[in-house]
Amino acid sequence: MTSIEKIRNDFPILKNITYLDSASTSLTPKPVVEAIDDYYYNYNANIGRGAYKTAIKTGQKVENTREKIANLINASNDEIIFTQNTTSAINTLANGFSFEKNNNIVISNIEHHSNYIPWLNIEKTNDLSIDVKIAEADSNGIIDPLRIDELIDDNTKIVAITHVSNSIGSCQDIEEISKIVHEHEDVYILLDVAQSIGHGEIDIKKVNADFIAAPGHKGLLGPSGTGFLYGKKELLEKLSPTNLGGGTITSLKNKDFKLEEVPYRFEGGTQNISGIIGLGRAIEYINNIGISKIKKHTQYLTRELYTLLSEIDNVILYGDLENIFNIVSFNIKGVNPYDVSKILDETENICVRSGFHCAIPSLNLINANEGTVRASIHCYNNLNDIQKLVDCVNELSKFF
Ligand code: PLP
Repeated sequence: MTSIEKIRNDFPILKNITYLDSASTSLTPKPVVEAIDDYYYNYNANIGRGAYKTAIKTGQKVENTREKIANLINASNDEIIFTQNTTSAINTLANGFSFEKNNNIVISNIEHHSNYIPWLNIEKTNDLSIDVKIAEADSNGIIDPLRIDELIDDNTKIVAITHVSNSIGSCQDIEEISKIVHEHEDVYILLDVAQSIGHGEIDIKKVNADFIAAPGHKGLLGPSGTGFLYGKKELLEKLSPTNLGGGTITSLKNKDFKLEEVPYRFEGGTQNISGIIGLGRAIEYINNIGISKIKKHTQYLTRELYTLLSEIDNVILYGDLENIFNIVSFNIKGVNPYDVSKILDETENICVRSGFHCAIPSLNLINANEGTVRASIHCYNNLNDIQKLVDCVNELSKFF
């Protein structure tokens, strides 16, 4: 059995469908589901509260996941805040950051709405005259780092940029962008790595990231409802927690309370414990395959898909082959992308995403006014999946 077949055996759902929508959420391997079952069957408890054995074990398991995330991105355990997803990680930063009057934030026009709306909301809802500046990407979805440099001024506080665009798959030079950002004093960079974590190495020290927001349920193959915010410890200490309550304070006397240490002050209430435990197992799973091996495999399939689709008349492809990562976005001329995905599903059980991918500004950029069809790839995909999609698109393009 080849290693890809072995991997596919861990995803029984693949017997029924061709799954090319991992950018939305990935499939979950058996060992992750088993780790979740094990928690519920054998040591189900809350964390940080009980002195009994199952509660202690649960607490340790949750902290093990924190450690695995920290090791994965080369951070310290206390720099990892568990969140529900990427969106809540970004909101934790946006709503907890201490802005001052006339500050501004730099984003780009290829952001997912999750790295767009929280910042627009800061501009709209507070009375500090905060401005959101938008760096324009080129027609392939690439942001010139110098464009970001031009937008930064003495009032800039945060540059919030996505590593890989979820709508086009374009990949930014985050090391260069981060270098430029850090040439300006007191400006911080947030990287939205929703589409790159698990698919390629993310080393926060190499990139010198101040913050990263990441999902557990995409590239890392973890359960839904998981994600994290990484922040440099000294920056997390300056951030205000926005979800206070149980687990977030160390003392309460009359009306005075003292906040817990970072990161616990940000993790109010009962966490997604089974999800976090599953995420820990998922990181182990990914590490066992090897992220560089995953990257090589998925980049190979991405290139094959892009190249084969480019040979079909009437197919419009978005993004530049040299610069896309795991995602191929396309349209068949004259056919609504929703109809394409519906037909692919109904005729061949092929799952692809269609529409605006929660990234409307990026679709305006590429003039895809009705959206696109998006195929996205992970370690469990193989050449058959690619060929099946290409054959169906070929048929459809002749039919319409
Ligand atoms: N950022 C990017 C680039 C994404 O692709 C997504 C989801 O697709 C998000 C943010 C939001 O992710 P989540 O669903 O984990 O909040």
